[in-house]
Amino acid sequence: MSIGDLEIPTLREKIARDRMNLLSDLVNISQVPAPTFDESDRAEVLADAFKRLHVDTVYIDPVGNVIAHRKTRNTPPVCVTAHLDTVFDRSVNHTVQIDDRVVSGPGVGDNSLGLATLLSIVRLLPEDEPGNLILLATTGTEGRGNLQGTRYFVKNFEQQVGFTLCLEGHGLGRIDHWSLGTIRIQIKTESQGGHVWRDKTGENPIRVISQLVTDIYRIYDEYPSEKPFVFVNAGRIRGGSSFNTVPYNCELDLEIRADETEVMEELNERIIELIQQYKERSSVELNYQEITRRPVSGLPENHWLVEEIESIHSQLKVDSVKGPGSSDSCIFIDAGIPTVTVGLARGHHRHHENERLDLSSLETGQLQVISALISCNQRLRNMHS
Ligand SMILES: [Zn+2]
Repeated sequence: MSIGDLEIPTLREKIARDRMNLLSDLVNISQVPAPTFDESDRAEVLADAFKRLHVDTVYIDPVGNVIAHRKTRNTPPVCVTAHLDTVFDRSVNHTVQIDDRVVSGPGVGDNSLGLATLLSIVRLLPEDEPGNLILLATTGTEGRGNLQGTRYFVKNFEQQVGFTLCLEGHGLGRIDHWSLGTIRIQIKTESQGGHVWRDKTGENPIRVISQLVTDIYRIYDEYPSEKPFVFVNAGRIRGGSSFNTVPYNCELDLEIRADETEVMEELNERIIELIQQYKERSSVELNYQEITRRPVSGLPENHWLVEEIESIHSQLKVDSVKGPGSSDSCIFIDAGIPTVTVGLARGHHRHHENERLDLSSLETGQLQVISALISCNQRLRNMHS
């Protein structure tokens, strides 16, 4: 099933008329910092905006998620979600620049555009469409967040959701229908530190961590570069204080991703074993902690939800790119809720302070979401009737 060709031009016109609202929401939201675990200012701005749009029920839940619920019919709820948090801390200048072609600034695409789109859905869809609509802005998606907002929502929301669309600003055309598994580990070393040559300081923690990184990559290099997908990333090292001080500590943030659970677990075990060996043989204190774990999960390529989005794409002449993602969708899918992540615009420099979005792609991105909500909801209703 698909949205009729006749409806597309009408929707396109409506979206074009709403453009200034979308852009002003996008700029306003982007300029409120929302680092992971500190999203409350942005959550308030969004909740107020939903209230101004007269959504029946708007609230912020105990983990900081914003939930806007519009219910006119007793049908299974349809959920659209976007994450509130960004990778930028409060010290970063959050000023947004906008001209005729481009909007730029930290987090404009990841994921302020997703949040602004939640608001635009309220304006663009009639009240009784889809009939039972949840617009959800979640906390704790980036960094060490461990998808806490989505986990809380899925566990505590009282009704079974019919399907979910996760919105991400970047990658118009993407249909992420399965998720790579992820394990994030933090490794910490500590020594007595001290003066470079006056103190008997023992091993240098930075040197220990550097050797450990080299050995981890030696293990990683044994894995094939194509299938199965496996990635290891030493994402951050920090420690030490000056040229002439033996560091008191050094920390490493390490991420493992894979598309097969067994491969991810095996690689994780090998790395943990290596860390144990280092722990036993070095004179520095060495400890590790698993910070987050996301399961490998997904919908088959021929799932109705994937097919509906593909069909919308072909009507809008957007090239579909089906593949993996690693976002909140895996939590919904694990709970048995059909979910895909879609991209809203073409952009560059994700997770950089000069992140940018191409304004000419916004209209099609919006049209995709509105059309998908209409057609997927029709499909859902038919399945339940
Ligand atoms: Zn994102």
